[in-house]
Amino acid sequence: MALTRRDLIRTGATLGLTGSALSVTTFTAGATGEPKPKVWTTAQWAARPPKEPIEVLARTPTYIVVHHTATKNSEDLSKEQAFKLSRAIQTYHMDSRGWIDSGQQFTNSRGGHLTEGRHRSLEIVGDGAHHVRGAHVANRNSEVIGIENEGTYTTVDMPKAQWDSLVDLVTFIARQYKIKPSEICGHRDFANTQCPGDVLYKRLPELREVVGERLAVPVAQPKFWPLLRPGDTGPKVLAAQHLLRDRGERDVPTDGVFGPSTFAAMSRFARSAGLPDEPCYATAVADESGLIGGAAWPLLIRQVDPRGDSDAAKAARALSAEGPVVETQDWRALLHG
Ligand SMILES: [Zn+2]
Repeated sequence: MALTRRDLIRTGATLGLTGSALSVTTFTAGATGEPKPKVWTTAQWAARPPKEPIEVLARTPTYIVVHHTATKNSEDLSKEQAFKLSRAIQTYHMDSRGWIDSGQQFTNSRGGHLTEGRHRSLEIVGDGAHHVRGAHVANRNSEVIGIENEGTYTTVDMPKAQWDSLVDLVTFIARQYKIKPSEICGHRDFANTQCPGDVLYKRLPELREVVGERLAVPVAQPKFWPLLRPGDTGPKVLAAQHLLRDRGERDVPTDGVFGPSTFAAMSRFARSAGLPDEPCYATAVADESGLIGGAAWPLLIRQVDPRGDSDAAKAARALSAEGPVVETQDWRALLHG
């Protein structure tokens, strides 16, 4: 039976228990009543051995990153499909990307079957003090632990079984590493990618809430950088266009419409800034090099006087900035309006 913290408190009150009788371990039971979700190991899904020893860092990860695999939304909800998917991702990562093993630490199938991705991930999360370094968010792999969710969630939602297993797994990881719900994020928060898809991304606040309730910790909803892409219009796009011009991309229009020339300008800028063109790592997908997301904004913004004549000042004005100076740390709030 699934017991939320509230249920337990209610039960405790009914039974006349004192608060101290409700131990933290009682609160951390998952939906299945188990403190640790069922995760099939690399041995169980017949993974290939890694090409090199797994790197285990003497630190814990800071963020839990949610991905979608950008593969088809399979109707096969079996464990066999979960194992097949795990093998396919590992093959792609080892043979096409040239990595030592699967990039992500865990995979979650549409049927809600959890599998270990990179070898040793389950064992090391269990120890709670170390981190298996994976390969799923460029330049951030020492600080992130990643979950690949089977499917494409740009326009449709994931099946309930998959959501439930995601909640169980994130709760388990967050508890082991004492990761705050505000540090549960999407791939797009660190990269210029649609991953994990708009629909799943919009459920991250709900994921933080549920995990926070399970762990009995307060939940703050973080503000990450917005993702802009072709078809978008409005002040954020206009601000991005001015910022690209500020960085020397003179061919970009300033019409507030994200068209092909804005995409091309961002793509050029990303290349010149040395940003890796690496969309979601689970599969090869469409060209996302010109999207403006979590990796682009920190390179585009700068301190500026919004009353000035520079392109960056025009960008700040497009976002209704006030005051004599817009500091770099002010831009994220400005973009959230
Ligand atoms: Zn991703």
